[in-house]
Amino acid sequence: MIDAHAHLLSDKFDNKLIIANMKDDGLDCIINIGTSLADSIKGIELADKNKHIFTTVGIHPEYAESATLDKLIELENLLSKSKVVAVGEIGLDYHYKADEPIKQKQKEIFVYQLKLANKYSLPVVIHCRDAAEDILQILKTNKKYLNNGVCMHCYSEGTEYAEAFKNLGCYFSFTGNITFKKVDRSFLKNLPIDKIMVETDCPYLAPEPLRGTINQPKNVIITAQKIADELQMTLQNFEKFTVSNTKEFFKLKNKI
Ligand SMILES: [Zn+2]
Repeated sequence: MIDAHAHLLSDKFDNKLIIANMKDDGLDCIINIGTSLADSIKGIELADKNKHIFTTVGIHPEYAESATLDKLIELENLLSKSKVVAVGEIGLDYHYKADEPIKQKQKEIFVYQLKLANKYSLPVVIHCRDAAEDILQILKTNKKYLNNGVCMHCYSEGTEYAEAFKNLGCYFSFTGNITFKKVDRSFLKNLPIDKIMVETDCPYLAPEPLRGTINQPKNVIITAQKIADELQMTLQNFEKFTVSNTKEFFKLKNKI
């Protein structure tokens, strides 16, 4: 199994232990996700030391306010490093702050990074929180920069937006929150099976029945099982699809 989205540099756990146990936990590979320039640099260092860890580079919308041109230039310098497999996580997050200047700044940094990804032929991992409409509009407007793949990470927009993101050719990556008790999972069967990925977003969003605990990459299997059940597939069969989709999206085929 592959965890398509993990924050391995979190101080909530010991990543050495997680990496040492990967094989026993059934994990072939973990995609570490960058959220700031500093975090992206550390992610590359971690990936360089561990064959089965790959990493993304990007400025999360929560850090958009402090994204200077200098930082973006430094970020660009990281994009050709060998273990970097995507630009992310980038996007919009209106959950805590949603006044107009902040929204504008987030949009500007988001679009800048979409263009960077295109320049380096990298896919993008998108963070979308309380901002689906704006994300959709930006993706539509910037479609010419999206030739290398788009992943809607922690997809939580349900049926309402699934069709629109599907029509843009997006991948849908699911986190522990798709396992939560009151969540509608019925739309999963309408998604293309070759566009579904699973992730943990650890240390956040532990799946049921571990909800509220510190999440870890190995818990990706719990989320996979829940989706397999909804799709009336065996876990093994679903795993074949999701692993292949993740390898395809991050271009890992000859790397692991
Ligand atoms: Zn994340």
